[in-house]
Amino acid sequence: MCRHLAWLGRPRTLAQLVLEPPSSLLVQSWAPRRQRYGKVNADGWGVGFFAPGRPQPARWRSARPLWGDPSFASVAPVLSSGCVVAAVRSATVGMPLEESAVAPFTDGRWLLSHNGRVDRAVLPAVRDAESTVDSALLAALVFDRGADALGDVVREVGAADPAARLNLLAADGTRLLATTWGDTLSALVTDEGTALASEPWDDDPAWTDLPDRSLVEVTPDGLTVTALAPTPSRGA
Ligand code: GLN
Repeated sequence: MCRHLAWLGRPRTLAQLVLEPPSSLLVQSWAPRRQRYGKVNADGWGVGFFAPGRPQPARWRSARPLWGDPSFASVAPVLSSGCVVAAVRSATVGMPLEESAVAPFTDGRWLLSHNGRVDRAVLPAVRDAESTVDSALLAALVFDRGADALGDVVREVGAADPAARLNLLAADGTRLLATTWGDTLSALVTDEGTALASEPWDDDPAWTDLPDRSLVEVTPDGLTVTALAPTPSRGA
């Protein structure tokens, strides 16, 4: 299972968000604290971020472990952004090992990361998936339906594959959207901005654990959490 995070707020460097905290995504790539599926996240890493005056995100991904990328470590302290999505990957068995299979996926203004797994057979075919990995097919489905349908897509896919784990994290430069469905997600709300992360990157007591089966929205005004009710069964 992968680990992911997002930030919306005052600009921070990618190093501050991804590399420097004591339990950063970098550390989580070999020593995650809350990961239930998989032990290391060495199958790649990705960072997507928004820059002023440019509606589409910039994205940097690799199929190598984050700890083996000195070029990123060199540049990350001078890249800053107020809206970031980052992930480290532990590939699900049978999934392709390639850069295009690593989150975040992107379409237009949106970035999207998936922490989990889903049976690809239950996903309706949609155009333009970046890879055959389950997460890319799921991302393409969300992009096709529109990010505002994120909660509906998760409920529908979760009903079609009860074993699916569907923690999604999306951003468009102005807000974050996330779901919890089978794995952990924590939030840190500060005066400077809001972070969402699969697990806290430090021991700040202000981190809160978000309930499973929730839809989370972060805007500059704050964070809202809505329960994801089950899809009504047919005939109900
Ligand atoms: N299923 C996705 C993959 O194979 C995500 C895996 C994960 O969350 N560890 O990349």
